[in-house]
Amino acid sequence: MHSVELIAVGTELLLGQLVDTNTAYVAAQFAENGIDVYATHGIGDNRTRIASAIGAALERADGVVTTGGLGPTVDDVTKEAVCDLFGVDTELHQPSYDAMAAFFASIGRTMRENNRKQAEVPRGSVVLPNRTGTAAGFVAFRSDGKFVACMPGVPAEMRPMLAEELIPFLRERLRLEGTIVTLVMHTIDLAESEIDYRIDDLFRRSENPKIAVLAHEGLCDVKVMAKANTVEECNALIAPLAEQIRERLSGHIFGEGSDRIEGAIHRLLQRRGATISVAESCTGGRVAAALTGIAGASKSFAGAIVAYDNAVKVKELGVSEATLRQFGAVSEETAREMAGGVRRRLGTDYAVATTGIAGPGGGSEDKPVGLVWLTIEGRGETVAHKAVYPGNRETVQRRATMTALGLLWRFLSSQASNRT
Ligand code: ATP
Repeated sequence: MHSVELIAVGTELLLGQLVDTNTAYVAAQFAENGIDVYATHGIGDNRTRIASAIGAALERADGVVTTGGLGPTVDDVTKEAVCDLFGVDTELHQPSYDAMAAFFASIGRTMRENNRKQAEVPRGSVVLPNRTGTAAGFVAFRSDGKFVACMPGVPAEMRPMLAEELIPFLRERLRLEGTIVTLVMHTIDLAESEIDYRIDDLFRRSENPKIAVLAHEGLCDVKVMAKANTVEECNALIAPLAEQIRERLSGHIFGEGSDRIEGAIHRLLQRRGATISVAESCTGGRVAAALTGIAGASKSFAGAIVAYDNAVKVKELGVSEATLRQFGAVSEETAREMAGGVRRRLGTDYAVATTGIAGPGGGSEDKPVGLVWLTIEGRGETVAHKAVYPGNRETVQRRATMTALGLLWRFLSSQASNRT
C-alpha cells in the first residue's frame, strides 16, 4: 500500500479568500490512478510551519504532494521549507532557466533576478518542467526514500504538470501497475436512497468494480470503478454490471461520462427535428440559459419569454385574465396557459413553462414559498408538475430549473419510447 498526503499552501486559503480546488483535483486524479490519499491539509505561507507540516505528514505517509508557494515573491517559501526539512540547499536547473528566459523574451518582458529563484530546486531533486508557466515543480527525496513533490498553485500550471509529469513519475516510482477506469452514469428523478434500494445487492456483491452513488443538484451519479491491468480488461469488468444497473434504473439515466442533461435534451429534440421554446416566471431565464449553454443549441432552441409580471403573462403569452383571477399566477392552469402561449407565439413543437414563489416573501398558507408549477407541452400532450422546494430564493430557482430540465427530458424520452 502506497499512500500520500496532500498539502495546499497559501495564506489566502486560510483567510477564506480562496477556495482550495487544487486538493480536490489532485485527489480525484490520484484516485483514478490508484494512489491512495490518506489526509489533506491547508497551510499558510510560513516557512517553519510548512516544513513542520511536511515533516509530520512524512511520518505517516510514503510521500507528500504540495501545491502553491513556488512563485518569485518573498512569501513563496515552499521550496525553502523543503530545503530546511531535508537539510539541503538549492541548485539551478538550467533547462528551466533557459525556458523561462525564452518565455520572457517571447512576451517582450524583462526577466528579474527574483525569477531565477523559480528555476531553482532543492539539490538532488527530480524536476517537473512547467510548460504553461514559469515556476518549475520538483520531487525531493529524503534519505529513506520518502518524497515531497511540489507543484505551483496556479491551477492552469499545476494540472498539466500533474498529468504529464508527476503522475507518470509516481506510478513508476511506486511501482503501480494496472489502471483504473470509471464509468459514470447520470440519473434524474431518483433519490439517492431509491437508487441504493434498487442496486443494493450489486453494491454489496461487487468489490471490483466498486460502485458509488453521488447526489448533487437534484441529480444522482452512479459510478462504476474497475481496476485491472489494461483499459480493455477494466471495460470488460464494468460492462455486465453497467448493463444490470441500466436495467434497474431504466428511464432515469440521461447520459454517461461528460454528458449533461441539456445535451441529452437537445439530442432527443434534434433526433426528431423538433424545436422548443420557454416561458419563465420564477426561474427568470435560467431554463433558457441552461438550454443555450450547449453548442449547437440553435438547431432546436427557438427562444424564451421571461414573463414575470402578470401583465406580461397576459400580453406576451396570452394567459387569460380570468385564469389569473381565479387560480392565481402560481397555479397549474397559469403554467399550462404559459406553455401553450409561448409555443404558439414562437411557433415551436415543444414548450416549457415555470411559475412559482421563489421567496423570501410572497408565500401564503395555500401557496407557500418554494411552491413551483412546471409544465411541458408538445405533440398533443401536456404534463404538469407541482413541487415545493425548501431553501432560499437561489436554491428554489436552481432546483426548479433542474426539475424543469429533468421533466422535459423524461417527457421527450417517454414519447420517443412510446413511438418505438
Ligand atoms: P506561480 O509559481 O505560478 O506563481 P505559486 O506556486 O506561487 O504559482 P501561489 O502564489 O501559491 O502559487 O498561488 C498563485 C495563485 O494560484 C493563487 O492566487 C490562486 O489564484 C491559485 N491557487 C493557489 N493555490 C490554489 C488552490 N489550492 N486552489 C485553487 N487555486 C489556487
